[in-house]
Amino acid sequence: MSQIGFIQDLNKIGCLFKENIPLYSYTSLKIGGNARFIAWPENIVQIKALIELANQHFIPYYILGNGSNTLVLDEGVNGLVIIINKNFNNITLTDNIITCQAGASLRDVCIFALEHQLSGIEFAYGIPASIGGAIYMNAGAYDGEIKDTIIDCTFLDENNQIQTYDNHQLNFSYRHSYFHDHRCCILSARLQLRHGDKNMIKDKMDDFFARRIAKQPLEYPSAGSTFKRPIGAFAAKLIDDCGLKGYRIGGAMVSEKHTGFVINYDNATSKDILELVEHIKDVVFTKTGYHLEYEMRILK
Ligand SMILES: Cc1cc2nc3c(=O)[nH]c(=O)nc-3n(C[C@H](O)[C@H](O)[C@H](O)COP(=O)(O)OP(=O)(O)OC[C@H]3O[C@@H](n4cnc5c(N)ncnc54)[C@H](O)[C@@H]3O)c2cc1C
Repeated sequence: MSQIGFIQDLNKIGCLFKENIPLYSYTSLKIGGNARFIAWPENIVQIKALIELANQHFIPYYILGNGSNTLVLDEGVNGLVIIINKNFNNITLTDNIITCQAGASLRDVCIFALEHQLSGIEFAYGIPASIGGAIYMNAGAYDGEIKDTIIDCTFLDENNQIQTYDNHQLNFSYRHSYFHDHRCCILSARLQLRHGDKNMIKDKMDDFFARRIAKQPLEYPSAGSTFKRPIGAFAAKLIDDCGLKGYRIGGAMVSEKHTGFVINYDNATSKDILELVEHIKDVVFTKTGYHLEYEMRILK
């Protein structure tokens, strides 16, 4: 890549960017090498300019929200990481419709909904996602999925043009969306909620949050559930039944509290995590016949 010209052009965009920054602090797994470039755009014009520039200079680019479902490899990223979180955290209300920018945290959206006595997104309280990451992943919990709340989503398409797609165009399915198959940057979304009783909404949120604290190894870095739920089974139960609870490779471990979580137990490398994940897949397939699929995304 022609990095000198790229850096000169990056300076012209006017957003904060840095070179050779360790990415581990930008993901919940706390693992990974440096990003060659990392940028924090402040508006859509800057996001567009960053993508255009990366394409012009043949620099690979990646979008990162809250990094709570992402493994960064030890060798890092020889490209541009565009961070879409706190600079895009606006949340507004019209009737029962919440409009939020992609960088708003699910936590803030849930609290905003509570304050306005709106129900329908309580299930998401405690998922450490940005709205962009939640839509990309169709995040869900406790029988709810973000797709159930989405009216439409506005994004930069593969030609770097702004588009708005309705829910049905977004190809949502279990932990999947249109954005898995099309390289886009999610900008904002409108969520349809319904009026509810504030105490009941709060009780639900508190209950879901308490269940997370009781069942998930929140005291260790992780990317949440490592695997998708296979049809007809639960990944955590399969892993447990295969005797893998507490199994370790290097600093990576199958959580003893929740076997669906691979945790960064002790300064794990991405190599430790990937070796452990592949070992789990092999053992589970050999012993049960179930193929486990990654839910966690790998930045590469
Ligand atoms: C403790 C813990 C508990 C969790 N519990 C749950 C749970 O209950 N349910 C659940 O579904 N998940 C859960 N997760 C996983 C994770 O929070 C979700 O997958 C979440 O949706 C990821 O959001 P993010 O902003 O962190 O995404 P990131 O990790 O930053 O990114 C994930 C993917 O989305 C893409 N992306 C992010 N933002 C954008 C954007 N603006 N435009 C285009 N692409 C984008 C990234 O490129 C990447 O491919 C948990 C994780 C942890 C650590």
